[in-house]
Amino acid sequence: MIFHTMIHIDPQANLIEIFSGIQGEGLLIGERMVFVRFTACNLTCDYCDTPMGRPLDTVVQIEKTPGRRDFSTRTNPLKVAEVTQSIRQLTRSAGLHRWVTLTGGEPLLYPKFLEALIPHIQAAGLQIQLETNGHFPKRLESVGPNIDLIAMDIKEKCDGGQLETSLRFLEVAKLSSRVYLKMVVRPSPDIAHFVQTARSVSQIDPNIPLVLMPVTPFGPIHSPPTPQEILHLQERLLQEHREVRVIPQTHKITGQL
Ligand code: SF4
Repeated sequence: MIFHTMIHIDPQANLIEIFSGIQGEGLLIGERMVFVRFTACNLTCDYCDTPMGRPLDTVVQIEKTPGRRDFSTRTNPLKVAEVTQSIRQLTRSAGLHRWVTLTGGEPLLYPKFLEALIPHIQAAGLQIQLETNGHFPKRLESVGPNIDLIAMDIKEKCDGGQLETSLRFLEVAKLSSRVYLKMVVRPSPDIAHFVQTARSVSQIDPNIPLVLMPVTPFGPIHSPPTPQEILHLQERLLQEHREVRVIPQTHKITGQL
C-alpha cells in the first residue's frame, strides 16, 4: 500500500525591516503606512538606497510602536505568521494606517510568501501597494490580483533593466491592479530611452501615470539632474504620453526612513 503524505511547507522570506513611516515617493507620497522591506534584489542600480537589499541579511529590524523607532531584532528568514503579527502590532491604533507597502529589495523574489501574506493584510482591513522593479511578470500573475496598487519602476540598461521584460510586466500589472510607473532621472538623462519607454507605455495604456523621479544624490551619484534637464525631459515625454509628472523623493528631506 502506498501512503501519500501532504507536506505543508510554510513559506519564509528574508527581510530587512518592518516599520511605520511616511511614504516618500510616487503617487501615495505623504501617506502614513507600514513598510515591509524585503532583502535581496536582482538588479544593481548605482543610486540604490537599500544596498543592503542585495545580499541576504541575517537580521531583521522590527518596530514595536509605530513611529517610535523602538526596533527589536529577529533572525531571517521570517514566517508569514511572524510578519502578520508585526503588521497587526503596528496597525493597532485605529486610523493611523490605511496602507501596507511591500518593498525591497525586490519583493517578487518571494512570490509564495507574498501569496500567503497578502490575505492576512487584507483581513486586517489594509490596502496593499507593491513596489517592484518589474522584472518578474510570471510571478505577478498569481500575486497581482490581490494588490491594490502596483508602483513599478522602469530601470535603465545600466541598472540591469530590460525594457521588453518591463513592458510584459506592465501588461500583466494593468490587467490585475491599478498601476503607475516610476523612472529615476540621472543628470544628462538618456532621452532616447525615456522617449522609447513613454511611447511603448502609451501604446499599452495612455492613462497609466508615469512619474519622473529626479535622482536623490547617494553613493556614486553626486548631483540631481538640472532644472532645465527635468523641464526638457517632461516636455518631450508629454509629446509621447498623456500623464507624465515630476515627483522627487521626499523621505530624505524630512529625515524619514
Ligand atoms: S531595483 Fe530597487 S532595490 Fe534593486 S538595486 Fe535597484 S533601486 Fe535597489
